[in-house]
Amino acid sequence: MSEKITVGILKERDKSENRVSLVPRDVNLLIKMGLSVELENGAGEKAGFLNKDYENVGTKVSKKLSDKINIITSVNAFSSQGNSYVKNSLVISTTNLRNDNKIIEICKKNNLSVIAMEYVPRIARAQKLDALSSQASITGYKAGLIVANSLNKYIPLMMTAAGTLLPANVLVLGAGVAGLQAIATVKRLGADVTGYDIRLAAGEEIRSLGAKFISNEILQDSETDGDYAKEQSKKNQKSQLEFLKEYIIKADAVISTASIPGRPAPKLIEKKTIQLMKPGSVIVDVSAPLGGNCECTKLGEMVIINNIKIFGPSNLPSEMPYDASIVYSKNIFNLIELLLQDKKMEMNLHDEIIDAMLVIEKGKKRIRV
Ligand code: NAD
Repeated sequence: MSEKITVGILKERDKSENRVSLVPRDVNLLIKMGLSVELENGAGEKAGFLNKDYENVGTKVSKKLSDKINIITSVNAFSSQGNSYVKNSLVISTTNLRNDNKIIEICKKNNLSVIAMEYVPRIARAQKLDALSSQASITGYKAGLIVANSLNKYIPLMMTAAGTLLPANVLVLGAGVAGLQAIATVKRLGADVTGYDIRLAAGEEIRSLGAKFISNEILQDSETDGDYAKEQSKKNQKSQLEFLKEYIIKADAVISTASIPGRPAPKLIEKKTIQLMKPGSVIVDVSAPLGGNCECTKLGEMVIINNIKIFGPSNLPSEMPYDASIVYSKNIFNLIELLLQDKKMEMNLHDEIIDAMLVIEKGKKRIRV
């Protein structure tokens, strides 16, 4: 009889990471599919899932993952804060492969294969395993809450016996998954919301959430075939900065989420524009990990300039680890289910999802990475 396929859940090494890659509910489903699951001691604790919750569904809890593991799951398996690897296994995780050459060395040394969650193709069939979307949605929601918590005014219109208070004016730059969720969140809180994106298709989505859409006429047609935005020419970038300046100055809060895959985040908020903003305004620069949309953003910090707060959050999904883990885990479960359709550990590279996401195979980088 062939050995059971064993999945190992890594304990995240990055101290600021609170999420876990598989939650007990999905572990239960994996076990029902005939797999075995091992958990590194305490891996789910910070997200609200205890060892006993995993044990109750049949997971073995170990101090260190055993060498029986075939598949390792993680949120960030190649953290700069280290990790331990089980030789010859398949790692399923988000990675920083585009910027971190050490990952290739680690994989070569340990003969690892890697399915990188950030390489998910943006096609309908892949939506259920799209961790970029499940986590970006949380990022947008949390960005809206940062605005609500740090503004020096109400978000909604308030008509009180002591006078009428106008709603906060919130500008959202970039209307992908995070931007649209940020719009929906501040809109629900009663803000007067304006959205901006260089993809005109985003206009319809912004309006469908009840926000105003602004667009710069010069920058028509900025969408690639894969639904992503195109990087702008120097001339267009200048025109964008000029166009956005008047809206940024009027806003009480700006949430910026603009990004282009594999490129530094486009600069949309200049220091000289910030100096013209109203004191007490807030900027939440969600693109901080990619270099930021704002010239003054500092990753992981809150900077104050002229009484304007500029937040550069580094990992917002980790600040809501329970639900972030539940949806990430479902993405991972759906991926494992797709991989093991024939109950074998062989990669079906004819499947465009697997072909796109398997970035390293047995220690060797595949061509598109
Ligand atoms: P992203 O994180 O790559 O970028 C965020 C937003 O920034 C995008 O809307 C982009 O157009 C915008 N942007 C880039 N440069 C800009 C600039 N200079 N000025 C203003 N805005 C700028 O986006 P995402 O959330 O990953 O979504 C990317 C695309 O994928 C979207 O079209 C989205 O609808 C699509 N998508 C498809 C699926 C699917 O079908 N499975 C799932 C999720 C997202």
